[in-house]
Amino acid sequence: MNDFALDLRGIAKAYNKGRPSEVAVLRGASLAVKPGEVVALVAPSGAGKSTLLHIAGLLDTPDDGAVRHGGRDMVGLSDRDRTEARREDVGFIYQFHHLLPEFTALENIVIPQLANGQSEARAQARAKDLLARVGVAERAGHRPAALSGGEQQRVAFCRALANAPRLLLADEPTGNLDPATSDQVFSALMSLVRDTGLAALIATHNMDLAARMDRIVRLEQGRVV
Ligand code: ADP
Repeated sequence: MNDFALDLRGIAKAYNKGRPSEVAVLRGASLAVKPGEVVALVAPSGAGKSTLLHIAGLLDTPDDGAVRHGGRDMVGLSDRDRTEARREDVGFIYQFHHLLPEFTALENIVIPQLANGQSEARAQARAKDLLARVGVAERAGHRPAALSGGEQQRVAFCRALANAPRLLLADEPTGNLDPATSDQVFSALMSLVRDTGLAALIATHNMDLAARMDRIVRLEQGRVV
């Protein structure tokens, strides 16, 4: 057992295994994130950041290596247990918001909570609280198309935190925003993460944003350096 929210050891992953087009993306990558710690994952495009985040978040399985959440082995779980662990442990944020277009901002944060067994009243209260924390409470009744890019992404942050995960994984969370908006939206994300004390691994190209996190790790040649 250990106290890391996320512990990756010796992760290997290749695509197109056994074919001439085989590409070894991760070659023994190791990385651990403590509760409350925010870690920047920095690497050029194509280096394997998304692959590592998908493995960390149980969306993909490694060819080799160990994945632990809160000290618990995740690789050996059944598909069903892994899906449940993902739903309970992990919040994801992507470069594009992926909000459900036919639902309001509030509903987009309520729905995952209902799916997780929360009551409607409590889900609504939590959604409103999260939206207020990122400064978009007054936009709660709008559908995504009526929100600015920065507002959409703030709502996506709230949705990722809707079920109070212990681990937040973000892949270029402000990558499609202009620099000024990116800066503000990133500040909102950081205060949300700090308020909730969760562990976060945030992939970014942006060194200014990376410098605002607790620690920077780089992915080079399939390893974390
Ligand atoms: P990053 O997020 O750092 O841009 P990715 O993890 O998306 O990197 O991709 C790493 C490498 O793996 C790239 O060369 C990419 O083309 C390749 N790759 C990613 N997913 C697949 C896949 N499903 N099949 C084959 N190759 C893939």
